[in-house]
Amino acid sequence: MSDIRLLAPAPGWAIDADVVVVGSGVAGLTTALRCAAGGARVTVVTKARLDDGSTRWAQGGIAAALGDGDTPAQHLDDTLVAGAGVCDEGAVRLLVTEGPDAVRRLIASGARFDTSESDGEILLTREGGHHRSRIVHAGGDATGAEVSRALVEAVRTAGIETVENALVLDLLTDADGRTAGVTLHVMGEGRRDGVGAVRAPAVVLATGGMGQVFSATTNPAVSTGDGVALALRAGAEVSDLEFVQFHPTVLWLGPQAEGQQPLVSEAVRGEGAHLVDADGVRFMLGQHELAELAPRDIVAKAITRRMQEHGTDHMYLDARHFGAEMWARRFPTILAACRANGIDPVTEPIPVAPAAHYASGGVRTDLRGRTTVPGLYACGEVACTGVHGANRLASNSLLEGLVFAERIADDVLTRERPAPGAPVLPEPSRAPLLEHGARYEIQRVMTAGAGVLRSAESLAGAAAALERVHTRAVEDLARDEKTAEPCVETWEATNLSLVARVLVAAAARREETRGCHWREDHPERDDAAWARHLVVTLAPDGTPAVRTTPSTDFPPVETPEHSA
Ligand SMILES: Cc1cc2nc3c(=O)[nH]c(=O)nc-3n(C[C@H](O)[C@H](O)[C@H](O)COP(=O)(O)OP(=O)(O)OC[C@H]3O[C@@H](n4cnc5c(N)ncnc54)[C@H](O)[C@@H]3O)c2cc1C
Repeated sequence: MSDIRLLAPAPGWAIDADVVVVGSGVAGLTTALRCAAGGARVTVVTKARLDDGSTRWAQGGIAAALGDGDTPAQHLDDTLVAGAGVCDEGAVRLLVTEGPDAVRRLIASGARFDTSESDGEILLTREGGHHRSRIVHAGGDATGAEVSRALVEAVRTAGIETVENALVLDLLTDADGRTAGVTLHVMGEGRRDGVGAVRAPAVVLATGGMGQVFSATTNPAVSTGDGVALALRAGAEVSDLEFVQFHPTVLWLGPQAEGQQPLVSEAVRGEGAHLVDADGVRFMLGQHELAELAPRDIVAKAITRRMQEHGTDHMYLDARHFGAEMWARRFPTILAACRANGIDPVTEPIPVAPAAHYASGGVRTDLRGRTTVPGLYACGEVACTGVHGANRLASNSLLEGLVFAERIADDVLTRERPAPGAPVLPEPSRAPLLEHGARYEIQRVMTAGAGVLRSAESLAGAAAALERVHTRAVEDLARDEKTAEPCVETWEATNLSLVARVLVAAAARREETRGCHWREDHPERDDAAWARHLVVTLAPDGTPAVRTTPSTDFPPVETPEHSA
């Protein structure tokens, strides 16, 4: 267990719970609902408002074998192909087998999906990498907003305690290293202001992704990798961090655009949109049997290659043939986002480019969501359950949040665990925080050196630049110069720095091209050397220690508390 902590004042207040859920997206709220339904006292802590994560932004839908003739086995096959040889097959089997019922339970919780006017059956569409129409959607392209609305309403109806505008800092443990809660900072002027603690024997990290580590991303501002950083500081293992999915078709808003960018969902291609270059040539034909519906990494790479060949920074998605009525009915959100940015997809091709979209890796868990730290769970995008391998199949992530949330709740409710001792309050941290501006420096470094195209040289450059950002703060502190004060911006910048350094260390180690990890200097997939995972922990001095697993197997964690 590392004793590295974020620099913060000592907790000034404390509350108690049976389980604290960190994050309020699909993963966090589903876990909270299932734990509360089983009688647990749940506290949900979330950094901004309840609906401020990636979940609300999801467009395409949720994948599940619900259609006539579709089976979990076919969904499994598509997921394994997208995962490029490093999925954990047992985890995928659970996902696709338990998925249909998890979606039905979401509907029972109040979510309303699009149905056929004629027979009331749920409508299913196709997305990249799926050989079947198996994506349920809501409001046309507003699936995440509906999922979030339904879950927030259900949480409120269930009377679950929620703490909004509260950034969780670090894990609390007892003298035996067992989870004893979290420290957090509440922004506001209520009863619980400033740094405090939620004491609980079980903590579920559901903090979402880390897209903000890159300059251009589809992820909202809250996606700063806090859960991965917290878990690393708490001594947990993280895995597969090098596999960052870049969504191929993000609205291109010009060379200076930064932060969250509007997504043009895969479902637009699913309904027949074509990718074309500036001359109107469909360049995906002949590249893959599924053409525009090839897995995301294939499409992102093809777009990037075409951009390089043409010396440009974007391509086009042509869906003028949908017509105004279909655009308005099927893709109202995307239509509005395009028009708000001066593009009318009914009359002109949409400029698009790849941007960071999804973290396939994260905090390593077993099939019940348990991390390597007793009492600490991870769920949703922050977790690495093994289902995504080297590349997530479209619309499998909301499903993963649903399925594993239920498995975690089951484990939390049924596991006999001794009550933790009193939390050991850590010594004040000696590690400095990074100033707010470091966020943008880190994003630029990561996009240039660890983005869609990577090489030993680009990654070494990124590692050196990140080290400079980190050591500058350490040296300022050593010289007793003014250092960054604890606040949301400096905690987030410090978390981004840690996950960026770990991501670059893993990407540099994996000397092959696989899934969404594309090494220009090692362009082939190398199963003999690399059909395995990279697992990272923090050394006592805070530097990432990377090791490889012997095979693709992702065995369940076996510690005394964890052995099932
Ligand atoms: C534009 C877009 C479109 C997408 N479309 C689809 C799709 O069609 N289908 C699909 O399956 N997936 C899609 N995805 C991916 C999917 O939306 C996410 O993977 C999924 O919603 C993640 O859910 P989550 O609950 O793990 O995290 P999130 O929904 O991101 O929630 C994370 C929560 O953690 C909170 N949090 C973060 N850090 C802290 C902290 N330190 N302290 C307290 N709280 C914290 C956040 O505020 C937030 O509430 C899309 C993603 C994006 C961005």
